[in-house]
Amino acid sequence: MASGFQRIAQHTFMLRVDERVCGTVYLIEEDGKRLVVDSGDGRLKLGFVPDVCILTHGHFDHTQGVRKDWPSVLLHPAEFGFEGLYVHIPANARPLHLKTLGFGSHQLEFLHTPGHTPGSICILDRKTGCLFSGDTKFADGEVGRTDLGGNEDELKKSLGMIEKMEYRLLCPGHGELELKE
Ligand SMILES: [Zn+2]
Repeated sequence: MASGFQRIAQHTFMLRVDERVCGTVYLIEEDGKRLVVDSGDGRLKLGFVPDVCILTHGHFDHTQGVRKDWPSVLLHPAEFGFEGLYVHIPANARPLHLKTLGFGSHQLEFLHTPGHTPGSICILDRKTGCLFSGDTKFADGEVGRTDLGGNEDELKKSLGMIEKMEYRLLCPGHGELELKE
């Protein structure tokens, strides 16, 4: 496991800096294969090349850490061509068309949750119950901003969908983790 990462569930780690601006990076590591959710803003050095990188949305604090040599970088199609503030789409990012992805013994499910941005997604790991919620939902009932090219009504709908999901641990793009009640 790379340095600085803290274990939060089986095969699952987070790398967080105190500054609110840099997004948290999550890592699923099993049998030497690594998948990261988001990349930080580029100031965090991961110290490895992830086999897969899934971006929760296109804001620079989540995407700017992507390096040119990362082989598989995926982002919801609606984020391409979205010209909001603070958007940074890495040149090697490709549209994510999958609904699910098996990764080792993990089964990831992708849920399109627009509102913060048009192509924001949440990622549920069925094995661990971790929900990687990007900037859509945070701990303590906080929700994503919609003034950066988002949409308030869409965000409400997305939050409703998240409520119905069977997750155990909320893993947001910033701030604290939260156990589902
Ligand atoms: Zn954002």
